Amino acid sequence: MTLRPDRREELAAALAEVERRVEEACRAAGRSRAEVTLIAVTKTYPASDVRLLAGLGVSHVGENRDQEAADKAAACADLDLTWHFIGQLQTNKVRSVVAYAHMVHSVDRPRLVEALGREAVRAGREVDCLIQVSLDEGAGRGGARPEEAPALGALVAKTEGLRLRGVMAVAPLGEDPAPAFARLRAVAGRLREEHPGADVISAGMSGDIPQAIANGATHLRVGTALLGRRKPFVR
Ligand SMILES: *Cc1c(COP(=O)(O)O)cnc(C)c1O
Repeated sequence: MTLRPDRREELAAALAEVERRVEEACRAAGRSRAEVTLIAVTKTYPASDVRLLAGLGVSHVGENRDQEAADKAAACADLDLTWHFIGQLQTNKVRSVVAYAHMVHSVDRPRLVEALGREAVRAGREVDCLIQVSLDEGAGRGGARPEEAPALGALVAKTEGLRLRGVMAVAPLGEDPAPAFARLRAVAGRLREEHPGADVISAGMSGDIPQAIANGATHLRVGTALLGRRKPFVR
């Protein structure tokens, strides 16, 4: 693996620009920057980039494929990082994911909740869970329907080894993200009435940071704007 000597500078500049955009969006929304956690989505990028970002002050890292995430988490085990699993999750990967992930953003069906609970207890861990909500009906990008979120949330809340922390969504393709994130915020509000600790709204990627922050996002998942454009064939 070749590490370009200027990679640290490149990442530092991108991080500063993302930080500027986040601060500007917080100001515009009348929110405090401290309410928003920036997760660097490092998928397809090497562990050396995670290490450089950690050196620049990033402490939250997001990954969407288990094998890649497990390798990177192991390579960075000496760093004080919080790992977020943000991809669609098959039950046969749950044991591996629970070993390194602090928060799973993609909880979208009862069978997955059961598997996560079982493996969390087995590993002696408490895993933070977000209910992934689909904001585009039946587009197949994962997520529970908004009306399924309360029952799924209740299931997480009563499952040993899991903590219900809130909701996550990806903005629908080809639609203004702002009204979609407003729908997510409404789902989050209903969930919080039953579960006061479920105060996380994971929304906002490189292309829709201001819309997410304006609609209450507490966790941004930013890849491209920090690390660069990913090769298309690995998405
Ligand atoms: C890849 C990915 C992101 C980051 O997207 P960018 O547009 O590169 O910022 C965020 N959330 C999820 C679920 C992803 O898979």
